[in-house]
Amino acid sequence: RDPSLKQANAGQSLPLQDVTVIGGGPAGVSSAIYSARKGLKVTVIADRFGGQVKDTMGIENLISVPKTTGPELVGNLAEHMKDYDITLKEHVRVESIEKGNIKTLTLSSGEQIKTKTIIVATGARWRELGVPGEKENIGNGVAYCPHCDGPFFKGKDVAVIGGGNSGIEAALDLAGIVKSVTVFEFMPTLKADQVLINQAEKRENVTIIKNAATKQIVAENGKVTAIEYQDRATDEVHSLPLAGVFVQIGLVPNSQFMKGVVDLTQHGEIVVDNKCKTSEPGIFAAGDVTTVPYKQIVISMGEGAKASLSAFEYLLAHEVEDEAESQAA
Ligand SMILES: Cc1cc2nc3c(=O)[nH]c(=O)nc-3n(C[C@H](O)[C@H](O)[C@H](O)COP(=O)(O)OP(=O)(O)OC[C@H]3O[C@@H](n4cnc5c(N)ncnc54)[C@H](O)[C@@H]3O)c2cc1C
Repeated sequence: RDPSLKQANAGQSLPLQDVTVIGGGPAGVSSAIYSARKGLKVTVIADRFGGQVKDTMGIENLISVPKTTGPELVGNLAEHMKDYDITLKEHVRVESIEKGNIKTLTLSSGEQIKTKTIIVATGARWRELGVPGEKENIGNGVAYCPHCDGPFFKGKDVAVIGGGNSGIEAALDLAGIVKSVTVFEFMPTLKADQVLINQAEKRENVTIIKNAATKQIVAENGKVTAIEYQDRATDEVHSLPLAGVFVQIGLVPNSQFMKGVVDLTQHGEIVVDNKCKTSEPGIFAAGDVTTVPYKQIVISMGEGAKASLSAFEYLLAHEVEDEAESQAA
């Protein structure tokens, strides 16, 4: 990565920060740049700079950039950050947060950072099926995001794994683009809302197979060609030829370390209001880790900007108290 970004060595202690951003994906980078442009002292802590973007091959929905790739976008994020005085700590994780007017973050390296505000932008990860052929074929037929990858399967046969709301919504979304969608649900009944099920049942190119366990995703010459599934009532294994498999069995927010620090939903998303404020004063959150709907790059970038403007507003309102406290420290 670019050596000209101000890299802080693990172990080297930093002065009190105005804003500490946890996460180096689109939301985190956007928060950091917006904060630095306000003249604030900013540190970014990123376990893996680039986040999910690093795992993405084709990106065609970042408005104003007709086509890019994940690695190219990660390079541009780093390049843009380099224009500002931002400290970046990579390959370390935030393990815990001590609340207070001045907050303390403890990193996996043992280092502690004191900060006036925190922006949590730790993203999420798609829950994987864990069957043979899944991991190996991500980007070659195995996909997780219908908004992102649906158009790559125009006119082809695809499957959606998961019959919850996100699975049925994905099937409806894909039905307008692809030739056919087969939805596989593990249980004997679908978990999605009836209104969505009714819509899916009306589509001629959507088939729903219930009580089916996905066994394997088959690929030839580096491209997905079929799915093997087992009818759980008869134990018979079937093979369905197709070009793509969309796994829709849940998105897991990276928020475990925030338990007890801010309010989370039962699914682990950080609850934010429309200014990216969490339940804890001075702690903001942005992007896929939050309750904001539709997990997308452009949305994460916008939310990151919003979180930093809220943090700036908070700092202005708390300027006097903070100064008094830091002088006492
Ligand atoms: C395969 C794939 C393809 C996709 N394609 C598209 C697409 O074409 N278009 C689109 O708009 N969206 C796409 N998405 C979704 C998009 O990538 C996400 O919506 C977006 O990256 C979310 O940004 P974020 O900054 O909120 O989180 P992330 O990108 O998940 O970044 C999270 C960051 O936090 C760090 N982190 C996590 N926990 C800690 C911790 N405890 N301490 C320190 N750092 C931590 C991570 O290392 C990472 O740097 C795709 C996603 C995937 C997986």
